[in-house]
Amino acid sequence: MKKATIIGAGLAGSEAAYQLLKRGFQVRMIEMRPVKSTPAHTTGLFGELVCSNSLRSDDAETNAVGLMHREMRRCDSLIMKCADATTVPAGGALAVNRTDFATRITETLHSFPGFSLDICEAAFPTNPTEPTIIATGPLTSDKMAEQLQAVTQTESLHFFDAIAPIVYTDTVDMSKAWYQSRYDKGDGTDYLNCALSKQEYNDFIDALLDGEKVQFHDWEKETAYFEGCLPVEVMAERGRQTLLFGPMKPVGLSNPHEDGRRPFAVVQLRKENKQGTLMNLVGFQTKLTYGAQKQVFRMIPALAQAEFARLGGIHRNTFVCGPKVLDAKLELKGHPLIRLAGQLTGCEGYIESASIGLLAGLFTALPDLPIPPAETALGAMLRHITVEAEAETFQPMNINFGLFPEVYAFDERGKKIKGSDRKKLYTHRAEQALTDWLHHI
Ligand SMILES: Cc1cc2nc3c(=O)[nH]c(=O)nc-3n(C[C@H](O)[C@H](O)[C@H](O)COP(=O)(O)OP(=O)(O)OC[C@H]3O[C@@H](n4cnc5c(N)ncnc54)[C@H](O)[C@@H]3O)c2cc1C
Repeated sequence: MKKATIIGAGLAGSEAAYQLLKRGFQVRMIEMRPVKSTPAHTTGLFGELVCSNSLRSDDAETNAVGLMHREMRRCDSLIMKCADATTVPAGGALAVNRTDFATRITETLHSFPGFSLDICEAAFPTNPTEPTIIATGPLTSDKMAEQLQAVTQTESLHFFDAIAPIVYTDTVDMSKAWYQSRYDKGDGTDYLNCALSKQEYNDFIDALLDGEKVQFHDWEKETAYFEGCLPVEVMAERGRQTLLFGPMKPVGLSNPHEDGRRPFAVVQLRKENKQGTLMNLVGFQTKLTYGAQKQVFRMIPALAQAEFARLGGIHRNTFVCGPKVLDAKLELKGHPLIRLAGQLTGCEGYIESASIGLLAGLFTALPDLPIPPAETALGAMLRHITVEAEAETFQPMNINFGLFPEVYAFDERGKKIKGSDRKKLYTHRAEQALTDWLHHI
């Protein structure tokens, strides 16, 4: 019987285990809970949801998260099966009874004769003799984190994410924004600039200071990152002009929409992926609530109609720089028997973590399996964390349509198709692409 070891019975580890067990593998799971817990887990159950009980939108027609749900269901995902069996009403979202959900995952894995569990804190497997998947999550134990840091080299492991909001490039108003690098260095398309007048800047600062903020958990307060990566609203609290000397400084820029004049203040957007379909607001990591972020950042004139692929946040997290240290099938470079899975790889979210667990399990069980097509949610997420994302500025990412190859479609008047019609083009294309790929599993 083929064997595999999985470290961490969270969403990713449980999904990977199931994919292996159902393909006849003997799986040894190593999980430290309940003997040793993380700061956020409270039970010894597998697949415990540490915060919200929602797996987000279940709309597979116009939402990338819903599309991911559909694709995972088609791959016979354990997490989706248990979610579907334990739903609670939540409008268009897929919400679950968290205890029933985690109990079901735990019982299903234990029901396989090939499954065994070691309850202990695992160390990094230096010389594994069988395929091993490390899925220890955003709150990986200190010992494992230190060892991963040593193996991947210091700068490739992060202990928090400080995420600036990310917008879809094609929703930026180009009658107000312009491409230019400061002092015209670089190739000129690296940065998209959004100017503010003095009045607009002052109104923006007022809104930033007044906006509702999310509080840190007690166990996050000690995280030593503040000075290196201050939330933008904390910078603004230090003085109304502070941002003019930081992320909003206008030096070295000239606004072609205003006869080449230097703007009073500027917000720079930088490419988040190689395709350039997503851009992040440079230096705008924030603890504003999601609602406040949309309101405040749409006060930047060029972003008045912007759509956000993801909003900003600052959390304790542990993740590697995927594009640097992982190969296309999630193998840790230089360690042929070891794969990483889940949030540790730089995806973010319950369902994204489970999806990367599913792929890690499949790649382990089926060595010849090609990677899923880029047009699918599974393929888009995988490619982002392994090859597409910019390694230098890598931050965790949710699934969103900006990660997919762009759809170019125009209506009869030659105008780009937008909104939900455009999203349907993505999801319908994905459906066919997944069907083709499923023949391999
Ligand atoms: C506080 C917090 C709140 C979050 N809220 C949400 C949310 O509301 N919605 C959302 O979509 N995402 C949320 N996330 C993000 C993320 O999607 C979840 O944390 C998700 O559970 C990650 O799945 P995972 O399988 O990678 O890790 P986990 O589900 O955390 O599983 C990792 C497992 O590994 C175990 N482990 C760790 N180290 C070791 C070791 N050395 N040896 C053995 N076992 C070990 C842990 O005990 C845990 O069981 C949140 C994250 C955090 C930290």
